[in-house]
Amino acid sequence: MIDPTPTTDEQVWNTAFIGLGANLGEAHQTLLKAIETLGRHADIRHLQLSPFYSSAPVQSHGPDYVNAVARLETRLTPYALLDVLQALETRFGRERPYRNAPRTLDLDILLFNNLVQNDPVLTLPHPRMHERAFVLQPLKNLAPDMMLAQGSLNDLLTACAGQRITQMH
Ligand code: AMP
Repeated sequence: MIDPTPTTDEQVWNTAFIGLGANLGEAHQTLLKAIETLGRHADIRHLQLSPFYSSAPVQSHGPDYVNAVARLETRLTPYALLDVLQALETRFGRERPYRNAPRTLDLDILLFNNLVQNDPVLTLPHPRMHERAFVLQPLKNLAPDMMLAQGSLNDLLTACAGQRITQMH
């Protein structure tokens, strides 16, 4: 039987925001390489990148982090996108000796369309993004008017004003 409502190519593209962070090794270079690789993926298009920021570790330690946020469109499911991100973390040498250890590369799905879910593999929106200046500030660069369930980006940024974050040049 023929589907009476054929999907166009445009209907399969989803919008996702990815949080990127690194605080070991050549952190800035690592992020650039990861972003370049993501942007070349056949099922990812229209990648936009925020400015880079330097931030003090939150619930972690070691050198300052380099952070950014990317907005992209993808034909991947959220789980397939997570697989791509985890493969990049592995490829760029991430080690996980213990929880919240310093890491060469951390890639999180912050938002995937308006999807809200909480399962053992993937929680969306990312459960801690609303309390982290190093996510909220670069997100604001890409989507100034975005509202999260917890409030506007400006209000949420005010609430974490104590977190040190500086835009890099
Ligand atoms: P972390 O060590 O903080 O990078 O956490 C990685 C783990 O968090 C993985 O096992 C993922 O399955 C899980 N996870 C849950 N929600 C997300 C999300 N939105 N983005 C990335 N990882 C997630």
